[in-house]
Amino acid sequence: MRALVLEAPGKPFVLKDLPDPMPGQGEAVVRVITCGAGLTIQHVRAGRVEVDYPRIIGHEITGVIEALGPGVSNLKVGDPVTAYFYLTCGYCRWCRMNRETLCENFGGYVGRAVDGGYAELMKLPAENFIKIPDGLDWQGHPAEVGVICDAIATPVKVLRRAEVTPWDTVAVIGAGGGLGIHMVMMAKWAHARVIAVDVVADKFATCREAGADEVVNAAEVDLTEALLDLTHGKGVDVVIDFVSKTQTLNPGFQALGRGGRLVSLGGTGEPITATPSKLLNNESIIMGSRYATKQEVIDSLDIVARGEVWPLVTEVKPMEEAEDLHKRVETGEVTGRVALKIG
Ligand SMILES: [Zn+2]
Repeated sequence: MRALVLEAPGKPFVLKDLPDPMPGQGEAVVRVITCGAGLTIQHVRAGRVEVDYPRIIGHEITGVIEALGPGVSNLKVGDPVTAYFYLTCGYCRWCRMNRETLCENFGGYVGRAVDGGYAELMKLPAENFIKIPDGLDWQGHPAEVGVICDAIATPVKVLRRAEVTPWDTVAVIGAGGGLGIHMVMMAKWAHARVIAVDVVADKFATCREAGADEVVNAAEVDLTEALLDLTHGKGVDVVIDFVSKTQTLNPGFQALGRGGRLVSLGGTGEPITATPSKLLNNESIIMGSRYATKQEVIDSLDIVARGEVWPLVTEVKPMEEAEDLHKRVETGEVTGRVALKIG
């Protein structure tokens, strides 16, 4: 099979021929059609995330089941599938209560701990493949269908965790990014009033097209003041922070109104200052949200299959152009999600 291989930290992709993977007990092999190229996997390409080399990255796939190992009952050859990003045990307390992003026996990420979707064939535990429902045109739009498992599912989980309702005003910080733009889309789908916050002015037109009612350029104005102005001093109900640096978390917390919820999705390690008096008086909630559960991936596929939202994929490039595509993901020059055409 042809595969894009990372051989050392920060080194370019090497397109090479490798032996086809053979499925073992409980495993399946998928023939990959497209694979999304987001910032999550660019962190690996850039060498900011440690993996064992050589490694094939990528997880936002559309593909067709090619071969099954012994003991696989949830799939058959020819099934169209996408993939679940986390390697989870399926039997711990957290997996059993539909919170498998907290799995006690977490095995790592597809495309980091094991090889991923930047290859013509990808082998995973069969439980990591999720069937694409009827009604989703995966043959006509494989790139869009392939990114649902992350770009739509991650926001779906945030809507649930933050209990976003149609009466809420939701501010999305980092709204112009690949996940942020889909968060805007999904908050609008939930009928909230949506404020898109970014520091790159030329992303705002896309934010508005995705459903933003208002936009705030945090490079030009004080973020807290802008959010208070837009809510007549009451503060916003939900802040969803994809940047999650001190300089966004603190003004985001300050801009929360009564009963406000701050959701952090960035793993920066930077501190947040939250005053207990505000937490108490406003019954504020600060929470983290990691990726999505398998059921949330399935729910996200269904939402798109029903025609309610459509993922924003602006570029699909051949494997030979992976390096250039990732350069532009790194610098934030791409809009929405981009993807590689694999097979
Ligand atoms: Zn588990």
